[in-house]
Amino acid sequence: MLSSNIFYSGYNIFFSIMSLFIGIGSVFLIANSNRFRSMLLFQIGGLAMIFLTYITTQDHLLYSLGLNFRFAAFAQIMTSILISVLWINAATDLYSHRLANRETLTIYTTLALTLCFYYSFAGYNSAYITLLRQLFPLIGISLLFVVSVLKLSQRPSVGSSLLCFALLMLGGKLVVSAFFFEYNRLNLNLFNWLWIYVFTVSIIFMRFDLYKEELARCWNSLDKLNLQIMNMIDLSPFPIVIARLSDRKLITLNAKASLLFGIGHKEIGYRQLSDIMIDAQNNEKFQQTIQENGSVDNFDVMVCNLISTSPFWMSASAKILEYNNETAVFITFQDIIYRKEREANLQNQANKDPLTLAWNRHYFEKIVPQRISECIRNTRNFSLLLLDADKFKKINETYGHKIGDKVLIGLAEICRSSLREDDIIARFGGEKFAIFLNDTDSKAAAHIAERLVQNTAQTEFKGDDDALIKVTVSVGVVSSEKTASFEVLMRQADEALYLAKRGGRNRIALYDEQEVKKYKRRKTKTTKQRDIHPIFQNEDNEEISLLGNYESKMLEKQK
Ligand code: GH3
Ligand code: MG
Repeated sequence: MLSSNIFYSGYNIFFSIMSLFIGIGSVFLIANSNRFRSMLLFQIGGLAMIFLTYITTQDHLLYSLGLNFRFAAFAQIMTSILISVLWINAATDLYSHRLANRETLTIYTTLALTLCFYYSFAGYNSAYITLLRQLFPLIGISLLFVVSVLKLSQRPSVGSSLLCFALLMLGGKLVVSAFFFEYNRLNLNLFNWLWIYVFTVSIIFMRFDLYKEELARCWNSLDKLNLQIMNMIDLSPFPIVIARLSDRKLITLNAKASLLFGIGHKEIGYRQLSDIMIDAQNNEKFQQTIQENGSVDNFDVMVCNLISTSPFWMSASAKILEYNNETAVFITFQDIIYRKEREANLQNQANKDPLTLAWNRHYFEKIVPQRISECIRNTRNFSLLLLDADKFKKINETYGHKIGDKVLIGLAEICRSSLREDDIIARFGGEKFAIFLNDTDSKAAAHIAERLVQNTAQTEFKGDDDALIKVTVSVGVVSSEKTASFEVLMRQADEALYLAKRGGRNRIALYDEQEVKKYKRRKTKTTKQRDIHPIFQNEDNEEISLLGNYESKMLEKQK
């Protein structure tokens, strides 16, 4: 005799199948592809259990198949073990996916083990075993009931209430069956399918609760993520604006952008991109590029501060992204002035002499011809000076190269402080400086050159041990009155400088064609006639007298 049938009469199958269809339907409704397998296992387990228990309890069916009740008992044991494993596996799977909580896992596991035990002894009818068979599930079900009530008190929900009710029904049924062995005679059929029905509905509701919890967790983590993004955006050294793509309304901006555009956080809601990107045509082109490519890189846009209303240019980079379930444009702005300054600084470094910070020869030869063209266009005069430190070799020899460098820096400083902003001072090489004087005729240039000579002569440079060093300079002066060719003027300036050196140094010399010719003629004649050996020549190709200045002294005496 099999006394443990849950479903006995034919119409119970109909209700059981109905409840299982509801269960499976719920799976299709609420399960997503990842968790589908677990859900399905659950339902297949339930379905298989109900059918197998039904079949094994149909004595006539078994006998017609030539099987006896021992086989039925064995089948029930195997089925219940299989179903238990299936249920535990599914519950663990759901738990590991965080779809089921610990209580649900406990409920399913205990229920599975309880049913397993219940059916394992289904075929034995000794009073002792029957009592155990009834008591053990009763204890299991009671425990489950306590767990469910605890869960219900923590977080009341329809699902857990129904589960408690279903467990109460099952417990009740087991109590009845434990004390009334002939309970089959009592009409408990309605009760049988009803508890399964309530149980299935409770599972559906509990699953909905789980999904609700999961959804709340997702929203929560989304909020946290948004907060993190906002913090990161706020930390950015660049102004960042996020605007809706559809109507270009501002969604949010970071502190830097708020300051730059003069938009308080309360105003964000009713401000649009066009309020800050004021050049309509430029703005349109910017939007068009984003929509075509999904992003835009270093696009120069005219923007404005809403408080000061002063427009300025910035470089904008943007990308279309999802922000808070909206398609938005992320725009970062970069100061072009800063970029331009940096570029200019780099350019300066390439064009400047690192020691004196005056322009270098390369830059001078590039920029001065341009300035000359400007002067010619505006019919303005200009002048060129070539300044050279006198006997600088001696400074180096006496005080060392380091002090020599310091003197060179000082000379550049004297030039800077004695000249105008738009004059160009360049270190032409060694201790020689070239100077371009804008809008200056030869008279004014001579005056300026004189000032340079005097200012240098009056300056005392400090050597080591506070030794005072005096330096003089010679300056060759040329101006545009006779020629405007840069190359010719540079050559003439060099010759004028030579005249200044020959004139005794610490002075200026204007370019004088006659003087230069005279000197050149004299030089070639002297060299040819006397054929001076290089050893008797000084650095100016002059003959060094072996008598020192004896000759000149004698000449002075004769006078
Ligand atoms: P003069 O009056 O004829 O110009 O005589 P000078 O000694 O100044 O001319 P010269 O061309 O014979 O010597 C130039 C010296 O300048 C030689 C070199 O050691 C020195 N000099 C060139 N460049 C630098 C530099 O960058 N630092 C230092 N300390 N000395 C330099
Ligand atoms: Mg020199």
